Amino acid sequence: MINLPPSRLPGIGTTIFTVMSALAAEQKAINLSQGFPDFDPDSRLINGLVRATQSGKNQYAPMSGLPRLRQGVAELTQRKYQRTVNPETEVTITSGATEALFNAIATLVRPGDEVIILDPAYDSYAPAILLNGGIPVSIPLKFPEYSLPWEAIHQASNSNTRAILLNSPHNPTGSVIGADDIQNLIDWTQKYPAWIISDEVYEHIIFDQLQHHSILKYPELADRAMVISSFGKTFHVTGWKTGYCIAPAELTAEFRKIHQFNTFCSPTPLQEALADALEDSSMVDGLSSFYQAKRNQFLNLMKDSRFKSLKTSGTYFQLMDYSEISDLSDVDFCKWLTVEHKVAAIPVSVFYANQEDNKIIRFCFAKKEDTLREAAERLCKI
Ligand code: PMP
Ligand code: GLN
Repeated sequence: MINLPPSRLPGIGTTIFTVMSALAAEQKAINLSQGFPDFDPDSRLINGLVRATQSGKNQYAPMSGLPRLRQGVAELTQRKYQRTVNPETEVTITSGATEALFNAIATLVRPGDEVIILDPAYDSYAPAILLNGGIPVSIPLKFPEYSLPWEAIHQASNSNTRAILLNSPHNPTGSVIGADDIQNLIDWTQKYPAWIISDEVYEHIIFDQLQHHSILKYPELADRAMVISSFGKTFHVTGWKTGYCIAPAELTAEFRKIHQFNTFCSPTPLQEALADALEDSSMVDGLSSFYQAKRNQFLNLMKDSRFKSLKTSGTYFQLMDYSEISDLSDVDFCKWLTVEHKVAAIPVSVFYANQEDNKIIRFCFAKKEDTLREAAERLCKI
């Protein structure tokens, strides 16, 4: 037996989403852990996919994505954010936001470069930075609002800072950036010659009349940003693993060099069906109110429980404080909850570089009414 080469990611195990979903299945628990809807997408997506596969759309798509899907993304960007992007040179379709994030990081990061990420951070960011030789510089969001800590961000920034990676609406916390953050970000970019990677996969899920401050709305930011989104969240098709990156042409050219050797192209029939779906703006425009009703239903069902809910302004996640119920670590509490009460959730500490444990767990409310009712009934008994 020859020796294994040293691990590229020592200390990194299987993701919490896989761990908790497997435990939920084993325990026959209601799975409010990994973020995915338990209901079907609009039948127009299913029909579009059937139509595409039956009409011969089964071979490779163009490397950068189906032209009419890129055109649809450009039109959506114009309509939502008044930003004109060139679908030929500035939009690339990827196999999920995960691939887009990896390629964007690979496009920008060189060995020794520092990338600022805000904890609790989505779990793919730090490994992607490390695999590209970069150094993740983890800074905690301000607890308990999970707002951006601008002073700490400035203190952590220096001439090695290649990029800041932002995520709004934010997974796992449901916090969103505001107009003041945009001004702070503009000030920051004037001080440091660094790039912005903006993970906006929940861009269309924002509540209480708040506006999503896409980086694409602000020309001075968009000119130095790679903005990433995912059709999985927008059309209730997380398993379709299709997303995109919008970036200035020079960056997109480099991004595509990586994309072409990573996946080459994303599945053709899925892109066809998504291009059809984008033609009807009501699906995107109805998403916030659809999920706001689910959030409200879940909060209402949980109001007499011993869990304390935190504020959720976007995404389909609800954080809850369980400190009145248990002293267990959040990881152990989630396992206990799954095994003993048959409801699975995600511990938030796993998204912190220092494993900070504030006794807070994340529930996904992208679920049918009955699922939420049954889960809340179990949780309220604790
Ligand atoms: N970023 C965030 C914040 C996410 O929550 C997710 C997945 N849910 C992704 C990226 C990855 O998206 P995709 O499934 O399209 O790869
Ligand atoms: N983004 C989803 C979540 O936060 C999970 C995606 C995955 O399993 N990789 O739950």
